Amino acid sequence: MPAQLINGLALSQRLRADVAARVGALKSRGIVPGLAVILVGDDPASAVYVRNKVKACAEAGLHSVLEKHDAALTEAELLARIRALNADPAIHGILVQMPLPRHIRAQRVIETISTAKDVDGYSVQSAGDLMTGLPGFRPCTPYGCMKLIESTGVSLRGKHAVVIGRSNTVGKPMALMLLQADATVTVCHSATPDLGVFTRQADVVVAAVGRRNTLTAAMVKPGAIVIDVGMNRNDEGKLCGDADFAGVSEVAGWITPVPGGVGPMTITMLLVNTVESAERAAT
Ligand code: NAP
Repeated sequence: MPAQLINGLALSQRLRADVAARVGALKSRGIVPGLAVILVGDDPASAVYVRNKVKACAEAGLHSVLEKHDAALTEAELLARIRALNADPAIHGILVQMPLPRHIRAQRVIETISTAKDVDGYSVQSAGDLMTGLPGFRPCTPYGCMKLIESTGVSLRGKHAVVIGRSNTVGKPMALMLLQADATVTVCHSATPDLGVFTRQADVVVAAVGRRNTLTAAMVKPGAIVIDVGMNRNDEGKLCGDADFAGVSEVAGWITPVPGGVGPMTITMLLVNTVESAERAAT
């Protein structure tokens, strides 16, 4: 039987409606959640990403500020802007769009964002909070993947989850969130000699590699949940994930499509984190 689709667009809409309701409740107390998005340089893909984030804020009733800076902005100037936003009570979340120009040290920038406003969850403090199970902001993409898994109604407790990829923004936080949900977790990466040995044992596979056809039908346990984070282009130039969608759909129990799976969830979780930040500031 073909896999059931996990519809990230539909889940996003439900979660964004919940965000809008929380924004409404805050507004009735005179608080408008605010997100500052900083773009440095003129990378066209980054420009699209920040536009989408600002648009999503407006649709959910959040206040947003988009700061566009020339690629020649110095690191000191950027850090000064972040410190000003840290001190601005109208701003509850600060996001600096990556990648930054080479002369700016990305980690230095991330660490300058106040932990209370680190809605991307990329700082060392936020990573530490996740690792130790303390409350804090979770990185948006893996957080969205958790919501997608949750939407299947399958409990992760005691399940074997295999994460392919170990980046600081997706793979590693994903593994920690699955662990926190009581899954037994295996993390695979480019030095894993035979991915299939691991993925065939998995009740849940999260593929976050960035290489199409990394996960094929023969590598998937019948009935497994497959979450496809990858964003790649096929021979026709169309967006596709890391899984061979047609083949894996015949074996898996659930699968996220690309597009329409993980993608819409990332911005949604950014909105969730920002409204959460405003709620925390208001208490
Ligand atoms: P990344 O930093 O390039 O990390 C890729 C990971 O995949 C690395 O850990 C790498 O291992 C591993 N890898 C590479 N080749 C492999 C192979 N043959 N077998 C097993 N593992 C392999 O990428 P990322 O930022 O985590 O993103 C991963 C993918 O998700 C990309 O396609 C990206 O565009 C997409 N993405 C989508 C969203 C969304 O909102 N939908 C958000 C973020 C990312 P090593 O560590 O050993 O190099």
